[in-house]
Amino acid sequence: MRHSPDDMYYDVQLSFSADNKKIEVFSYAYGEYENTLFDELNNFIEYDFSIIYKYKPELDRIYNTIYDRNETFDDIFEYQRFIEICETIAKSFEEQLPGLSMSLQTLLEDKYSLTDCLNIDLVLAMEEIWEELESIAVMQGDIESLFYDLSEVQKSNTDRKNIPFSQHYTTIVTEMNLSYNEGVFKYTVITDTPRQFYAALVIFFFSSQPLISLCEYCGRYFTPKSKKLTLYCDRVSSDGKTCKVKGARSKHKNNTESDPVLKKFYQEKHRRYMACERSKLAFDYDGQTIDKYYYWLDNVKEQLEKYKRSEITAEEMMEFLQ
Ligand SMILES: [Zn+2]
Repeated sequence: MRHSPDDMYYDVQLSFSADNKKIEVFSYAYGEYENTLFDELNNFIEYDFSIIYKYKPELDRIYNTIYDRNETFDDIFEYQRFIEICETIAKSFEEQLPGLSMSLQTLLEDKYSLTDCLNIDLVLAMEEIWEELESIAVMQGDIESLFYDLSEVQKSNTDRKNIPFSQHYTTIVTEMNLSYNEGVFKYTVITDTPRQFYAALVIFFFSSQPLISLCEYCGRYFTPKSKKLTLYCDRVSSDGKTCKVKGARSKHKNNTESDPVLKKFYQEKHRRYMACERSKLAFDYDGQTIDKYYYWLDNVKEQLEKYKRSEITAEEMMEFLQ
């Protein structure tokens, strides 16, 4: 994907601490930051990616225009507009998901520099960009499934000394550098697309033998500090109390084992996600697509909050989930 040594300027360089718990992300063009690997993945899981689908009709329109017209000079201007929209999407991630923003901008930079040569296949380039954009939503569901499965396996394991760490295999094709400094080896993975970035995070995260729990009060993932069974996280909400305190006091235990409503919610969520098909540019598809899944999830989450506050009954909630 590189065209000249100068392109290194846009490379996103990802490196990991010795225990694979922390990452450093660096790019000459877009800056640098540090985070824990868990937070980096969890922020991604919790992010609302509906902005991608908000812009899809306009991306469809440009794609159709270029597809139908076939190689006129104006195509370049339309293509430029297509790239600009995608840059707007990439920049919207800057604050909460800087690594995603950087890797997406690097990809766009690469696809845009190609317009220098007039023979570029614009249709193909747009299809490649869309595939990468939609992969963001696909990966979000995949990584959440991995978190959920691992948390379930670990929670139900009665031998607390030997907690299983599920095996996960994934593939990444990219460049990797090794450096050695003061007795320490350091790997740097070059991740110039969102797919490379998150594949690398997943590989290193799951090889670090992580502990993951799903908080039974707030429904968010966390990493317990010990192998002891830990049902609630330490997050503090606006009333100054932690889930641990509120969860212990709550009469209404939001326990996935004992509460059929929550169990049904996670099952239904998984079923719908697995049924999703990818959408293509310029095609109206009537089936279950990822944007419809997001829409469903938004509605259900709202109802689930009401259920947790006992504003609606278990029967009503079950009916809503059907
Ligand atoms: Zn919590």
